[in-house]
Amino acid sequence: MIYLDYSATTPISKEVLDTYVKVSEEFIGNVNSLHSLGVKSKKLEEQSTRQIAALLGVNSNEIIYTSGATEGNNTVIKGICSLYKNRGNHIITTELEHESILAPLSYLQKEGFKISYVKLKKNGTVDLDNLKELLTDETILVSLASVSSELGILQPIEEIGKLLKEYPKCFFHVDITQSVGKVKVDLTDVDLATLSSHKFYGPKGIGVLVKKANVNILPLIHGGKSTTNYRSGTPALPLIAATAKALRLAMDNLDTQYQHVLKLNQYLKAALSKYPTVHINSTDASIPHILNFSIVGIKSETFLHALESEDIFISTRSACSGHNHYSMAVKAVTDNIEYSNASMRISLSYLTTKEEIDVFLKVFDEKIKELTLK
Ligand code: PMP
Repeated sequence: MIYLDYSATTPISKEVLDTYVKVSEEFIGNVNSLHSLGVKSKKLEEQSTRQIAALLGVNSNEIIYTSGATEGNNTVIKGICSLYKNRGNHIITTELEHESILAPLSYLQKEGFKISYVKLKKNGTVDLDNLKELLTDETILVSLASVSSELGILQPIEEIGKLLKEYPKCFFHVDITQSVGKVKVDLTDVDLATLSSHKFYGPKGIGVLVKKANVNILPLIHGGKSTTNYRSGTPALPLIAATAKALRLAMDNLDTQYQHVLKLNQYLKAALSKYPTVHINSTDASIPHILNFSIVGIKSETFLHALESEDIFISTRSACSGHNHYSMAVKAVTDNIEYSNASMRISLSYLTTKEEIDVFLKVFDEKIKELTLK
């Protein structure tokens, strides 16, 4: 099997799984129980939370556990808008966002909020002049991903954060789901950030929401204290400890892993660019882990299944964007409807080998010839 869909999800690493199993077996008490088993669990939760906070460069009291980035994004967007709606009703985002940002925003639009999509430069990064033009006294939230899931566009988060400091009524939310473990993330000027552990070899079913201490939100899920009052439910200690482990492993080897992926990306991109019908949709602002492309004249789904028949796995759009084939993100960057209808994504990992890419390219060549003839 050749797995090239690491941005959809990653396999849990052995060490992380070991932590999950060990904590499940040895820490049976509820973190919030008063007896000694609870106290033992609470200690581990606090230690894991301190570790996660330190790795993200924030304080322990700024960490909220969720079921994943989808819940995190919904909590941030709905939680800020319900609490601060008296300040204003305007939100700014981009056309590159994941459904878990776009869908709560459309929901809020029906409730009377105004949503603006900031213009993008040719390489897909935010046009800062246009962002300035869009910001008004009514703007209460700017919400976007530091790395977009379909095209891997890396946004200038620090610059945007600095700019937004001049607008103290406006909160800045960054979805760092596709950044963690791939590129450095600086949350200094960010008010809220969201992530999912399963994107960096952690377990599925847990995410982290960073909410800076000076920011308030209305919880999405009520039900008493968990690790915080912002998201109720018995703390999932094995998932929390496993997340701390996965995050440490991800951050430990960031630079060497990045260089490995960069080399593979360059090799792959050079090979794919030789085909006259292949268009690379990722830009020079895309991180090397994500390579988005279209083949003119071939349906992306057909090509995905043709590769799958040879045990090679890639994706069409992001795994969660349902059956709507048209990619708003690819359209926003390429301004080409044909590319937007046929986009595919290869996502690479430090686990990917040159041998795997060679096999992929051989099969790619066979399949593109076969399907072009049809
Ligand atoms: N945001 C981004 C940028 C993503 O790539 C994803 C997952 N594809 C999500 C949010 C949602 O993550 P999850 O499905 O783990 O909730």
